[in-house]
Amino acid sequence: MSNQTQDFQVKTHPLNHITRTIAVLSGKGGVGKSMITGLLATYLQRTGQYRVGILDADVTGPSIPKLFGVEKIKPRGSEDGLFPVRTHSDIQLMSINLLLEDPGAPVVWRGPILANTVKQFWTDVIWGELDFLLIDMPPGTGDIPLTVFQSLPLDGIIIVTSPQDLVAMIVQKAIQMAKMMSIPIIGLVENMSHVVCPHCQESFSIFGNGKTEAVAREANIPYLGNLPIDPELAALCDQGNIERFHKRYLDDSLAALERMIKPGKNDDEPAINEVSQNQVPASGAVKIAIASDGTNVTEHFGHCAGFVVMTIENQTITDRAFVENPGHKPGFLPNFLHDRGIQVIIAGGMGSGAVEIFKEKGIEVITGASGSVDTVVEQYRSGQLKSTGSVCHDHQHADSCEDHA
Ligand code: ADP
Repeated sequence: MSNQTQDFQVKTHPLNHITRTIAVLSGKGGVGKSMITGLLATYLQRTGQYRVGILDADVTGPSIPKLFGVEKIKPRGSEDGLFPVRTHSDIQLMSINLLLEDPGAPVVWRGPILANTVKQFWTDVIWGELDFLLIDMPPGTGDIPLTVFQSLPLDGIIIVTSPQDLVAMIVQKAIQMAKMMSIPIIGLVENMSHVVCPHCQESFSIFGNGKTEAVAREANIPYLGNLPIDPELAALCDQGNIERFHKRYLDDSLAALERMIKPGKNDDEPAINEVSQNQVPASGAVKIAIASDGTNVTEHFGHCAGFVVMTIENQTITDRAFVENPGHKPGFLPNFLHDRGIQVIIAGGMGSGAVEIFKEKGIEVITGASGSVDTVVEQYRSGQLKSTGSVCHDHQHADSCEDHA
C-alpha cells in the first residue's frame, strides 16, 4: 500500500484479528451491491471453513440487517467495545441501522460524521477472529469510500455494476479511485444482467450482452461473471431470509475470495497478493517483478505499493500477480524478492545500496522504466527495455529508492 495511504490508516480493535478485509462497491445505488455483499457472506459462511463478518458502511441506506432479518436486534456493548449482531448462520454484522432508535428514520448526518462512524466500526467493534470482513460501501466515490480506502487496510475490492448502469464512466471512476489508492481490484461483477423465463427457462438479456465484460477487459481487471434478476432472491431478501437462498451464483467471486486465503484453491490461478511464493520458474522462463502501483511503474523503488510479478516463457506471460510491498526494513526487499524467485527487477529509480544487494543475489536490475506496466512488459518482451542505470543520489530520493538498504 502506498505511503500516503498508510499515513491515514487506523488500527482495528486490539481484540480483532481479521485476515482479509474486502470492500464491495458500485458506481451508483440500486445495482444490488448490498445484496451481493450479503450473498457472498452467505456463500463463504456456508462452506463451514471461514468466520465471516459484514461491516455495513452504506450508512446512507443501510440495508444489510434487513437482508438477514436482524434489524430489530441491538448490539451488546461492554467497556471494551461493541459486539456485532450474529445472523442465523452466525455471520457477524454491524450497521448504523442496528444502533438507531428508529431504523426507518433517514440518516441525516453530514459526510465527515458518517465517515467517522464507519471508522469506529473498525476501531471500536469487537469482531474477534475473522477470516473475511466484507464491507458494504456506499455507492459512488464520495467521502465515505475515500475514508474507508484511506483508513482501513483493504486487501481488495469487488465492484458491482448492472448493464443499464452507465458502466463506462461511473465504474471507471471507482476503478481509478482503487488504482490511485493501490488497492487490488478482485474483479467486476455484473448484476441483473438477464432474466430467465420461469416457463421456458429461456434467458433474456434486456440491456444487451457483454458490456461489463468489455469494461473489465479494457480496464485490465478480472471479470467475475454475472447473475440474473431472480424473483426468488428478491423475495428472500425482502423477508430477511437471504441465508435461505440456495442457487449457486457468484462462483467466480467466491473462488477469487477463497484464493486470497488459500492459494491455489479451486483452480490453478494464483491467489491475489500471495502468488508465486518461492517458486523459481521452469528453465527457459524468466520471472520479473515491476515496482508499481498495479498500473504504472513507480518512480522510486523502495516506496512502491507493490510488485507486478510475471513469469514469461517463450515470450508468453504464463503467470501474473500483484504482490504488496511488505514495507521498509533495512535490506529487506531484495531478499524478499529473491526468496520469491525473482530474476529481474524493473523500477523507475533505485538507491545504490539496493542495486548492490540485487546484483550480489544475481538479480538483474533495470532502472529508468516509466509509464504503464503493460507497455514496459511489452518493451521487455521484445528486448527493447534497456536499463538507464538510473541510481538515485539526491538525499530524498536515495532514501525512498534505497529500501533503506
Ligand atoms: P444497492 O446496495 O446497490 O443500493 P441493493 O442490494 O439494496 O442495491 O438492491 C436493491 C434492490 O434490488 C433490493 O431490493 C434487492 O433485493 C434487489 N435485487 C438486487 N439484485 C437482485 C437480483 N439479482 N434479483 C432480484 N432482486 C435483486
